[in-house]
Amino acid sequence: MTVILRTIAEVRAWRRALPAGQTLGFVPTMGALHAGHISLMELAKRRASVTIASIFVNPLQFGPNEDLAKYPRPIEKDLALLEAAGIDAVFLPGVANLYPDGASTFVVEESVSAPMCGAVRPGHFRGVTTVVLKLFNIVQPDLAVFGQKDAQQCAVIERMVRDLAVPVEIVRGAIVREPDGLALSSRNVYLSPEDRAAAPLIHASLQAAKAAFEAGQRDASALAAIGRKVLGQDPRFTLQYWDVRDPQTLTSIDTVPTGGALLAVAAYLGSTRLIDNIVLAPF
Ligand code: AMP
Repeated sequence: MTVILRTIAEVRAWRRALPAGQTLGFVPTMGALHAGHISLMELAKRRASVTIASIFVNPLQFGPNEDLAKYPRPIEKDLALLEAAGIDAVFLPGVANLYPDGASTFVVEESVSAPMCGAVRPGHFRGVTTVVLKLFNIVQPDLAVFGQKDAQQCAVIERMVRDLAVPVEIVRGAIVREPDGLALSSRNVYLSPEDRAAAPLIHASLQAAKAAFEAGQRDASALAAIGRKVLGQDPRFTLQYWDVRDPQTLTSIDTVPTGGALLAVAAYLGSTRLIDNIVLAPF
């Protein structure tokens, strides 16, 4: 049975009652769970003896014109999926529970969070780091699993944990995709049939650049040009960025170094914002 915990006090009591020597693995989510989330749950189960997930649509990480109100919240289905995955507990806090009236303390990472999604979603990563550190303080996990799908989120959290000496190991889980290459996302349900049919072009653009890299191309702007050209084949896309960056610091690079690189893209398809990325392996 997945134990449902609704308040900070309930999580603390549950945590305290765990037998000594058990390791706790944590998977924070915003719900509307899909196979990508479940793969993170399975990874947490392999890496820790006890597992807890959270479902919280965090208002602090949504901009004023973003999809907070319409974000899908199929809570009964989510609970059934967590139960089936064998997760031991789930934390379902309310907004008032996590953000007391007049809350005025925030966590701000100032470098890794600046480019890419940080540049086009002001305040987004401030919302992410604040809620993740708060959830870590409540849950006190030994390790926490995040998806490579949100590569910048992973890098920002890894930097926060390093800089603030947070005693939580960050584990990255691989991107789970549809058979046609589209990365699973809770936001894919917003796509019209026509946009859904076009959506795999995002992954195709990453694959095209990766193929050029594997054929020997090391010039970052040449790789980005290949990717942008593929995405440019369909006028439905409004590109936000198609970047070649250092996978840890997310600084932009001119030539892919032997340590590899991150290819990352964000684009609107209709009113739906999609992101995806691929890692160029060290060589
Ligand atoms: P979200 O509910 O969108 O905040 O995502 C919760 C966690 O699931 C984050 O760590 C995401 O990176 C991860 N995630 C989302 N989509 C995928 C996917 N397609 N494959 C693997 N992990 C994912």
